[in-house]
Amino acid sequence: VSAIVLSGRELAEGIRADIRARAQRLRDRGIVPRCAVFAGEGDIEGIFYANALKKIGLKTDVEVDLVALPPSVGNAGFAAAVADASADPRTHGILVQRPLPEPFDRRLVCDAIEVGKDVDCANPYSFGLLAAGTPAFAPATAAAVLELLRAHIPQGLAGAAAVVVGRSPVVGKPVALLLSAADATVTICHSRTRDLAAVCATADIVVSAIGKPRFIGAEHVKRGATVIDVGATVIDGKIVGDVDAGAVKDRAGALSPVPGGVGPLTTSILLRHVVEAAEKLS
Ligand code: NAP
Repeated sequence: VSAIVLSGRELAEGIRADIRARAQRLRDRGIVPRCAVFAGEGDIEGIFYANALKKIGLKTDVEVDLVALPPSVGNAGFAAAVADASADPRTHGILVQRPLPEPFDRRLVCDAIEVGKDVDCANPYSFGLLAAGTPAFAPATAAAVLELLRAHIPQGLAGAAAVVVGRSPVVGKPVALLLSAADATVTICHSRTRDLAAVCATADIVVSAIGKPRFIGAEHVKRGATVIDVGATVIDGKIVGDVDAGAVKDRAGALSPVPGGVGPLTTSILLRHVVEAAEKLS
């Protein structure tokens, strides 16, 4: 039997309908939910992503404003612009593109994001709250992984053996924290893990966030396991996941596709965070 396809598209549609309704209620009270997206001037990828978010914003009644800053402002100027947005009551969510081009240091810049507006959990204080189990907002991608799992595993995640491949502060680590908070038993793997396939093959749930196209094969997957593919590598203009879907689909019980799995959910969850921030702040 072939694995169940864990599509993110329908879930994303549902989230967008919810955002629209909540944004409308805010607008009825004179509040326009608004997200400021910061990028480096000329950063083609960052600006492309910001414009994609803007389009979803248009469909969900959330205002998404792109702020592209030139190298001449330096880190101090960039951080000052982020601090201004943090202090501006008309802005409810702040996103800083990743990676930021030279000469900007994303760490320094993200320190200036107000925690209540840190809709992608970008600064260390926000991450600390996440680690403590009381996040203001979880990183959108990690939240998307959990949302996919929750929607498709009705019996819940408690006690499930989960292996997360990748330990970046943006994806792997927060996914592991959220899974642990959901009472899964979590193992974190990385590039120095010995016999990765054997470790993964013990798991009920495998989440891969390594950025290595088609790296996860049948040998990494226990029969019937749920596999979430966060990987998104662009090859010849196409997005390719970490999982070799052709090899895994007859072994896994369920598998999230790339594209169409975690990706569309991530952007929707980000805008849901903006609406949540607007509700909390107003
Ligand atoms: P990253 O910062 O490069 O981290 C990659 C992680 O994978 C590291 O922890 C690394 O281990 C580990 N790794 C690399 N090669 C490995 C191997 N052969 N075996 C085991 N572990 C290995 O990447 P990231 O920012 O977390 O992103 C990961 C992937 O997710 C990328 O494809 C990215 O495009 C995608 N992504 C998708 C979304 C979405 O919304 N869909 C959002 C963000 C990222 P070490 O720590 O030992 O170096």
